[in-house]
Amino acid sequence: MLTNSIWHETLHPNFGQYFSINQILYRTHTKHQDLMIFENETLGRILALDGIVQTTESDEFIYHEMMAHVPLLAHGNVRKVLIIGGGDGAMLRETSYHKNIEQITMVEIDSSVIELSKQYLPYHHAGSFHNPRCKIIIDNGVNFVQTTYDRFDVIISDCPDPIGPGESLYTSEFYQGCHKCLNPGGIFVAQSGVCFFQLNEAINNYQKLQHYFNDVGFYQASIPTYYGGIMTFAWASDDPILRQINTLNLMTRYNQTELNCRYYNPALHASSFTLPQYFLNALKTC
Ligand code: SAM
Repeated sequence: MLTNSIWHETLHPNFGQYFSINQILYRTHTKHQDLMIFENETLGRILALDGIVQTTESDEFIYHEMMAHVPLLAHGNVRKVLIIGGGDGAMLRETSYHKNIEQITMVEIDSSVIELSKQYLPYHHAGSFHNPRCKIIIDNGVNFVQTTYDRFDVIISDCPDPIGPGESLYTSEFYQGCHKCLNPGGIFVAQSGVCFFQLNEAINNYQKLQHYFNDVGFYQASIPTYYGGIMTFAWASDDPILRQINTLNLMTRYNQTELNCRYYNPALHASSFTLPQYFLNALKTC
């Protein structure tokens, strides 16, 4: 909601956060959603979709480093990656730092997000849309995973909250399709909301994922602009060991890359699967 140079996020009905606006860079209603890119004095450029903060220049590195490098380094031998959503290009950027990856496919439903991010969010994509290893497909992620014959080692669902077009990325159809698209030893991760306020969403994701994957869990990170505490990321694979790679092994793998992260480090990776007791208790009820 926009009232003279103040924008109020509308994710939660009874509380929330606001951002002062230095300048609205672009605002439109695309085929799929309301899109706004604006500048805030403290957080830099912000992309909002359907009234919800998607990403800000100031703290996007936390989210994108944790969603990319935790599964990629846990897997240890990734050749093909699928990114669902991710229209701002930052997940593509982080993934492309792994030189051993041969192909990164990104399936984004809204081409306007890509085109406007190319223009207004240069630090997010850092030119990664033009990386020859990257293939961009405009499609609904559910449709893609249900119909493709391609197979991947890691699938990253860089999805918005389950509102609007994002809702279909939290369905059993989507999770079943992702399981089908993974190679043996593959890993699926998805943003799963700020667990203190979106606990039911995480539980629903957990229950649905358990129908298709042998090992389902969560890991966490704290991203300031995702209001309300730690964000959990859903994790699913068919091999529980993948969630338990120790810090020493992760350090070896990290040092074999050219990564120079600002948030991610191997010790934090290993500890990020440690979750609050109220969250663990809620999972036990499933
Ligand atoms: N980091 C953000 C978050 O945690 O909320 C997500 C950022 S990214 C901008 C989300 C992207 O998912 C958007 O570009 C949106 O257009 C895309 N998207 C939404 N629903 C989709 C769907 N069903 N298939 C593919 N992409 C989708």
